[in-house]
Amino acid sequence: MQPFDLTFSNTKVAFQHMSDAEVKKAKFIFSIFNFSFLVKYGPGLSTFCLKIGLPIKGIIKNTVFWQFCGGETIDECDYTVNTLWKNRVGTILDYSVEGHEDEASFEVNVKEIKSTILKAKGKPQYPFCVFKPTGIASVTLLEKVDAGIKLDNDELNEFYNTKKRFETLCQVPADSDMRLFVDAELSWMQKTVDTLVNEMMAKHNQQKALIFNTVQLYKKDQVELMKKWIAEAREKKYFVGFKLVRGAYMEKEAERALKMGYPNPINDTKEDSDRDYNEALKLCFDNCDIVSVCAGTHNEESSLYLAKLMNEGEIENNDSRFWFAQLFGMSDTISFNLAAKGYNVVKYLPYGPIKSVMPYLGRRAKENSSMAGQMGRELALLVQELKRRKSEK
Ligand SMILES: Cc1cc2nc3c(=O)[nH]c(=O)nc-3n(C[C@H](O)[C@H](O)[C@H](O)COP(=O)(O)OP(=O)(O)OC[C@H]3O[C@@H](n4cnc5c(N)ncnc54)[C@H](O)[C@@H]3O)c2cc1C
Repeated sequence: MQPFDLTFSNTKVAFQHMSDAEVKKAKFIFSIFNFSFLVKYGPGLSTFCLKIGLPIKGIIKNTVFWQFCGGETIDECDYTVNTLWKNRVGTILDYSVEGHEDEASFEVNVKEIKSTILKAKGKPQYPFCVFKPTGIASVTLLEKVDAGIKLDNDELNEFYNTKKRFETLCQVPADSDMRLFVDAELSWMQKTVDTLVNEMMAKHNQQKALIFNTVQLYKKDQVELMKKWIAEAREKKYFVGFKLVRGAYMEKEAERALKMGYPNPINDTKEDSDRDYNEALKLCFDNCDIVSVCAGTHNEESSLYLAKLMNEGEIENNDSRFWFAQLFGMSDTISFNLAAKGYNVVKYLPYGPIKSVMPYLGRRAKENSSMAGQMGRELALLVQELKRRKSEK
């Protein structure tokens, strides 16, 4: 067994891709998130100001936007993509426009996602493509299908179109031997998404895992569900891809369960989610003859756990069945320290017009704020790196 010496404390490696000015700017941005009133009202106020034409686009673009996004268009992301790739960190172009509920918008989104696939084709710096089901499908429709409600003729037609879009976005990358993540959504539409992704895995994962479903380990009983899917794949002889996340919609899940009077599907404690996450990693590892896995997490312990399992199983760090993923602008200590040791690492790089990515930026601000109890993690690392650089001069 190779000696295992991976740590995430090396800020020199973590921020090697950033100039002094860039580290200082990131520190400034994460400091802003300590002002809870800005985090609470900033995104809504900014969206309103942009709507009425106040000239604040430049301020947003030069601060939070560049911290968490690659650009307003695919080509504007090139600089960031190249910077990441110089350090062996790959990119997943993530078209981050949210909140549209009509067929015309879905078609526009499909076109844009196809452009990300085209951009990534044949280029190692883009190891995965991605799409979010609610970017191409109506939430109301998915919810009805999930609940088993009988659809009328218009809805049947709409669902037929949805399936076609879904199939196209899996077919296009698979035809070019490219990997694709399908993001996970709220529980009241996820059964339908799972069914569609499993069908696509059976179709396109004949030689290796190209299509990856996302499993949210904050939900109860997900490990059992994964076992069932793996057994099905063994029986029908196809490969499985899983992106493992804890899950992003805890409050919405609890609110709806309370309102509608059914048990909250989310684990009772954070420890339960952590336990399930690591069990899911172990399950993937134990079945790695047919399962590929991506640890989509900012949790150091989980990332370390997967790396340790690989080490103990004498699996090469760059084995193409094992991946780690973080969001751009966050957890660089994990991404860049893993990449420096030769592990496969990718960053989600959101892009889109500033107005449209405001909900995404708002979530990042909230997640890194004192409101979320996260104040300081990223900030402390940036401060540490600035001190280290100063002492070196
Ligand atoms: C690359 C990448 C892709 C992602 N894709 C998706 C996606 O497709 N769908 C999606 O839903 N999310 C996605 N996420 C977000 C993810 O689900 C988490 O919200 C986020 O990453 C925080 O979890 P963590 O594992 O990084 O860290 P941690 O800070 O260790 O965990 C925080 C998470 O733990 C869970 N949790 C917190 N408190 C409790 C509690 N009391 N009881 C039970 N569970 C609790 C919640 O899920 C919370 O988000 C993605 C994240 C990354 C990095």
